Amino acid sequence: MTITAGMIGLGAMGAPMAHNLAKQGLLTSVWNRTSNRADHLAAALNIQASESPEALAKTCNIIAICVSRDQDVLEVIKMLLPGLQPGAVVIDHSTVSIETAREAAEKVKTQGADFLDAPVSGGVEGARAGTLSVMVGGSRQALDKALPVLQAIGQRIEHMGDVGSGQATKAVNQILCAGINQAVTEALAFGMTLGLDMDKVIDVVSGGAAGNWFLEKRGPTMIRHQFEPGFKLALHHKDLKICQQMAEQAGIPLPLALQTLEDYQRLMDQGFGEEDISALFRLKK
Ligand code: NAP
Repeated sequence: MTITAGMIGLGAMGAPMAHNLAKQGLLTSVWNRTSNRADHLAAALNIQASESPEALAKTCNIIAICVSRDQDVLEVIKMLLPGLQPGAVVIDHSTVSIETAREAAEKVKTQGADFLDAPVSGGVEGARAGTLSVMVGGSRQALDKALPVLQAIGQRIEHMGDVGSGQATKAVNQILCAGINQAVTEALAFGMTLGLDMDKVIDVVSGGAAGNWFLEKRGPTMIRHQFEPGFKLALHHKDLKICQQMAEQAGIPLPLALQTLEDYQRLMDQGFGEEDISALFRLKK
């Protein structure tokens, strides 16, 4: 099958993913709600900016989506559905609930097409480098069809099971990210009060047992009070709300995630929701 891929949602993650699809010669069309973003990218990549998700779906056999929230994914699915071709595969890279993934899959099925929930991890750096980790839910057959597209954006692609299992895996990832954010912001704020050279601290502890992605990528910027996203705090708040609901259903406590939700809410109330999640540092000083 010759792949004609389309990308919907050209934000911090979607735009670099589109670049990597184009590099592999797979991308034919893009669409973005704010159309000038799509126009600029399409001109730069010498591809088409579709006038609607429906128009994009008419010409693409693999359609990748990366938008913000549950409702946004369902709106996009609704818009593309009339153009969707039988046999096509819709891949959702957004972080949403298991229920939304299942609802989207049901809608896509009505057109004789397939759906994969394929949330990603690795940040904007991973999206730019094409090294994302991709957690996939859906049929093996659909995954095989979409594999060249997933390989263009990701380094590690794991089939987790049926539709929804990609999002369930991503929920685990987001709880880990909450704990790591708490640990890194707290430790670096503590180090600063001791008057240490924090660039040296980050460098040396990164090479030991406490080293991690977030410390290395966001440590140097947070100690300089730079909180450009990255990953918007309000989006991680949205993810942790999903985790909270899942934990309530399962009867499991998530103390660290709930503390992080509270902290993020405080920061959002102060107008910092569009900053990177490392803005949690603001509460630790
Ligand atoms: P972002 O920079 O805020 O971009 C959001 C994109 O979604 C924009 O293209 C926006 O269009 C589009 N959008 C939002 N609502 C829409 C709607 N109702 N209809 C159509 N398009 C809509 O966000 P991002 O950081 O790329 O994140 C996208 C998804 O990936 C989120 O689910 C996030 O949780 C997840 N994620 C993010 C990261 C990260 O490090 N940033 C990492 C892993 C996963 P406009 O241009 O018109 O606003």
